[in-house]
Amino acid sequence: MKIARDLPTDLQIRTVVDQITAPAFALGPDLCVQHVNTAMAALLDQRASNAPLADLAQLVQPADLATLQQPLTGDDTAHQVPMSGTNQFIMIAPVIGPSTERVGFFAIVGPQADTTRDQFARWHAILGHIDDGLWDYDAHTKTRYRSEGWRRLRGLDDGDTSRDRREDWLAFIHPDDRTRLDTLTADLLNGKVTTFEITYRERHADGHWIWVASKGKVVRHDADGNVLHIVASNRDITRTKETEDKLRTLETLRERWRISLESAGQGVWDLRLAEGSRYCSDLWCTMRGYTSDNCPQERMSKWFRYIHPDDQLRLRGQIAKLNSGETDEIRFEYREKHKQGHYIWIVSRGRVVERDESGAPAHIIGNDTDITAIKADHDEFDSLSKSLELAVTTARIGIWQFNTHTRIAKWDAQMGHIYGLEMHDDQDMTGMWEKHLHPDDLEPVTKLANHCLRTGKEFNQDFRIVRPDGTIRHVRSRAAQYTDDVGVRRVIGVNWDITEDRQRAEVLRQANALAQKQNEALETARAEMEHSALHDALTGLANRRLLDDAEKSSRGKAVVLHIDLDRFKQINDTLGHAAGDEVIIHVANLLRKHAPQNATVARVGGDEFVILLPQMPADGVLESLADTIITAAAEPLTIKGHACRFGMSVGIATSAEGETGSALFANADMALYLAKNDGRGRYRFFTEDLKIAMQTKNRLADEILAGLQNHEFYCLYQPQFHADTLNLSGVEALVRWRHPDGSMRSPDSFLPVAEELNVVGRIDQMVLDQAIADTLHWQKRGLPVPRMSVNVSARRLLDPDLPANLACLKKAPGEFAFELLESVFLDAHDEQLAANLACIRDLGIDIEVDDFGTGHASIVGLLKLQPNRLKIDRELVSPVDTSAKQRLLIKSIVEIGKLQGIGVVAEGVETPAHIDVLRDLGCDHLQGYGLASPMPRDQLSALLHAAQSNGKYSPYGGPTFVL
Ligand code: C2E
Ligand code: CA
Ligand code: CA
Repeated sequence: MKIARDLPTDLQIRTVVDQITAPAFALGPDLCVQHVNTAMAALLDQRASNAPLADLAQLVQPADLATLQQPLTGDDTAHQVPMSGTNQFIMIAPVIGPSTERVGFFAIVGPQADTTRDQFARWHAILGHIDDGLWDYDAHTKTRYRSEGWRRLRGLDDGDTSRDRREDWLAFIHPDDRTRLDTLTADLLNGKVTTFEITYRERHADGHWIWVASKGKVVRHDADGNVLHIVASNRDITRTKETEDKLRTLETLRERWRISLESAGQGVWDLRLAEGSRYCSDLWCTMRGYTSDNCPQERMSKWFRYIHPDDQLRLRGQIAKLNSGETDEIRFEYREKHKQGHYIWIVSRGRVVERDESGAPAHIIGNDTDITAIKADHDEFDSLSKSLELAVTTARIGIWQFNTHTRIAKWDAQMGHIYGLEMHDDQDMTGMWEKHLHPDDLEPVTKLANHCLRTGKEFNQDFRIVRPDGTIRHVRSRAAQYTDDVGVRRVIGVNWDITEDRQRAEVLRQANALAQKQNEALETARAEMEHSALHDALTGLANRRLLDDAEKSSRGKAVVLHIDLDRFKQINDTLGHAAGDEVIIHVANLLRKHAPQNATVARVGGDEFVILLPQMPADGVLESLADTIITAAAEPLTIKGHACRFGMSVGIATSAEGETGSALFANADMALYLAKNDGRGRYRFFTEDLKIAMQTKNRLADEILAGLQNHEFYCLYQPQFHADTLNLSGVEALVRWRHPDGSMRSPDSFLPVAEELNVVGRIDQMVLDQAIADTLHWQKRGLPVPRMSVNVSARRLLDPDLPANLACLKKAPGEFAFELLESVFLDAHDEQLAANLACIRDLGIDIEVDDFGTGHASIVGLLKLQPNRLKIDRELVSPVDTSAKQRLLIKSIVEIGKLQGIGVVAEGVETPAHIDVLRDLGCDHLQGYGLASPMPRDQLSALLHAAQSNGKYSPYGGPTFVL
């Protein structure tokens, strides 16, 4: 072990050695002789005058040297060894330096040194010069020795013995340390320990405590092992102790500081600029991507180089302020390059703790925090809150807060703006909301708000507020609760003015409602249009289009009942269109009522209807349906007080014949025709026979039209006779058709079809033209016809062109008469008819009522017409010779005629009995096969000729003309 040298002590020892009269010398810790006094030098010179002593080994026997060396490692403080070659002894003792370490050895040469009291006195005197306090205790003499150093240590004057006695000394010992000292003393005295080192506190003469380090050992025992001598040294270690304490505290603090900073994620650095030393903690390194092991010195010393160029200038400025002494505080925020190349944000906080004489920083301590993440968060937060603020501002959203603990409400400026309030900063707005709530909203809204407050639910409500100027605004409010950092529950909410929105919404709502109404109206109109496009306006029944659709959707399974009203025209003509309409509506209801649920009931013409069944019903259903409606229609209907009677004919066609669409309807139409032909008020099914008949009829129609073109029609003339004289009184022109097949056809075979073809007028005209021509022909031959009658069809009588067509009659010679069917005119009120009749009369043409007695003409109507003659129908004439009742009827007709000045003609006179009876009954003229059949012009010429020569014509006297 290397022992530190203490130069002043060395010097002291030399001085002491020099003052000793006995040979003495000082040895270094290595036992090398370092200094000898004069006496010792003399002694050594005596032995070897020419070579100074260099080594203790040369003074003592090698065996003794080992003993001498013991103090270096052993227990004794002093040893005696015989000096080689002399009878003297060397006494050697260690010199204790101020640091309690031995600084060398002090040796005296003399006879039995240890027994020399003087020598010890001197010893003590020498030791007294040493700064350390030394003491010893001689158990044998019970004496204590305390060096001057011992006293100085305690602030006592030289020679002050106040603490020499153990009891006195103990009184100055710190109470806390006394027990330890007592224990030590006891242990020493009873041999438990032989060396000791102890520190304790003792009161300095000035009154303060000093720390004493005491180190000693038992140096001698008696033969029984009892302690004889203890030596020890004292040192004032107060300063050391304080420094140590301070250092320890400092170290603890520093460690704590380091740990706390490091654990807070802060890298610690410590710059001693004066000494050029720098310390950077592990975290400082790891923050920058290094470990404490691989962090290069350059990284720490050339720190500034790694700072982001954009931050360098700013940082330089801050460092300059530190250097100039303007501030001691460091707070840098800057980017520094990470080992991996990217930059990290660092906040560096620190302080200049020491400056040198020039005021420049000598010692700076600080810590760094990596705030890259925070910075990113902050940047994000910053931009977020900026956009939020922008959003809130532009949306004119007012923000309010309520502290549930203090019950204080705070509004922002926009809130005040919404509520029309002047506000100053940080004003407590508690109660202001409730104050401005609309009276009608106050109760329910505050109730809801309190509920939300209690339950923690979100508040979400629209309400009205009344501003101080009285205006009412609509406000929407949203609020939520949260608990802040210190546990206070707060409510934060927003308000915004939705008055305009509501107004706009209201306008929109009204516009919507209007549009909705218009839509509905349009829809209704459309539906109406659609309905009217598919329905009959008068009856609401389906029309032809809808009927066609229904037929199509039946997929060829439909059944059609074609219905036609009988006698509808008469009702229409006599009672007017309104009555006709009433009949139609009545019939429509009737059909609706009786038609099956799935049937389509349609009106397809003035008085024509169709019932369409989507499929063939069970057997008998069609028949019973037809019966039902015919029976129902037969019930008289009272209109304007008149009991109107009309009938109904029904033609039925089913798809059994394979016909669909228009063909099916045509079949029903044919069946209807058949029904009507068969005598009205009945129904007929379409049959194949009917179809053939219809085809025949169609062919006939074609032939009629061709016949007209080819002048195949011509006249026969049937003579009429005075009943009493049987002289010729006139002729009736009757049409005939010379068919291309060679046959001669009579009117009954073609007139109905010609009627349907609407060509009867043309036929009549042709007959009239021929009759005029033939009349002229006979006249030219001096055979004038007393009177020429032509038949006029009903349609022709209503023809507006009739007067023009009759112009030919103006030049016609002789008497002309028009035979009009009774049913044609007697009920008619038609203006055209009246005009035509007037025209006929103007032309001097007689009017005869044909087929009288078969129709329903009223006597009143008859009188109104004022005809020249009535022609009694042959149906009435035929039974006249056998039936008295019939004769009575004829007689009444004759009487009416006589009364009104109207001539009476009897038709169908076939037998002499007929002639007699009719003459007797008073008929004026007779016509019939019994007298003369219709005959061609030339045959009549012969008859006229004969009559002229005979003067009279008699069926029984003259030639009979039969065709
Ligand atoms: P009508 O006007 O009553 O004419 C008399 C019809 O009775 C004629 O038949 C005639 O041949 C027939 N007749 C005459 N004497 C007798 C008799 O003793 N016994 C029977 N059983 N019949 C007799 P016709 O020529 O076949 O004419 C039939 C009907 O055709 C006519 O009946 C008339 O209504 C119509 N008709 C004839 N010619 C014309 C015409 O030129 N124009 C128009 N519109 N109708 C005509
Ligand atoms: Ca006639
Ligand atoms: Ca007739």
